Amino acid sequence: AKEAGRNNCTFFEPAMNARAILRQSIEAGLRLALERQEFVLHYQPKIDLASGRLVGAEALVRWRHPQRGLLLPQHFIAIAEECGLIVPLGHWVLRQACEQAQAWRRQGLPPLLMAVNTSPLEFRSAGFLPFLRQTLAETGLGPACLELELTESMLMHDVHASDRLLKAISAMGVKLAIDDFGTGYSSLSYLSQFPIHTLKIDQSFVSQMTGSKDDATIVSAVISMGKSLHKQVIAEGVETLQQCAFLTAHGCDEGQGYYFSQALDAQAFAHLRNQSRFD
Ligand code: C2E
Ligand code: CA
Ligand code: CA
Ligand code: CA
Repeated sequence: AKEAGRNNCTFFEPAMNARAILRQSIEAGLRLALERQEFVLHYQPKIDLASGRLVGAEALVRWRHPQRGLLLPQHFIAIAEECGLIVPLGHWVLRQACEQAQAWRRQGLPPLLMAVNTSPLEFRSAGFLPFLRQTLAETGLGPACLELELTESMLMHDVHASDRLLKAISAMGVKLAIDDFGTGYSSLSYLSQFPIHTLKIDQSFVSQMTGSKDDATIVSAVISMGKSLHKQVIAEGVETLQQCAFLTAHGCDEGQGYYFSQALDAQAFAHLRNQSRFD
């Protein structure tokens, strides 16, 4: 058994090393990428289901990697979180998203709610509130035009600290959404305690709901609970007409997903709006 253990060890080591090396190269690349401005935001429309209007956008970061092309967050967000680079990256994302929202306003496009994903480390960092305040002041974006998407797990990590932060953010007029709702470890009691504006139903429920009775029940229950608690409810990962019809019939406020549009670069997003497809 000892022999086998040793063999296993030598068998796995090269693979571990390769992964560690890839990780290191991504980490080093991330540091440079911030300096070299290799990040770019794409924007995915959020659609009001009753009217079909485009009412919001979620900013989603991409990395224009010099060798590997356009990288999706799955390849670098977790690493950025582990090495702390998510804080400066998150700051860049917030600033860029606010600037873009203002730029579209100046181009005469109708106002929308800009949603930004906020990572746990960034949210808990001491400078987060001042940075948020400063960004709104410097870009001139109205606080009511900004929404932060947070996950349940990060709020439950330190409920007292979260409570204070959320109340301060909400007092500024910035909206708060629970992202991937239903997938985190949480207690529902926080929903009445925290100033949450929006529940975002995770795409895992949405993708199953037209085929699975249980997921359909969960989705309709979240929608009616959201309504009773006076929350805005949005479904993410809407891919089919059938899903869209189900959500609309059950009174879900908004939808987001490939059925409407994938995330687009700023120019394509503005083009979409100028075409008035979602007016
Ligand atoms: P998320 O916040 O749940 O974002 C939704 C993800 O689902 C996005 O992937 C989006 O492109 C994708 N998506 C949208 N519509 C559909 C659909 O109809 N079907 C399917 N299958 N997928 C759809 P993306 O852009 O790769 O982002 C992945 C995750 O990375 C995000 O999940 C979010 O957790 C994180 N992320 C993205 N941008 C940022 C950022 O700026 N900061 C932080 N901290 N995290 C980010
Ligand atoms: Ca999100
Ligand atoms: Ca989500
Ligand atoms: Ca999700």
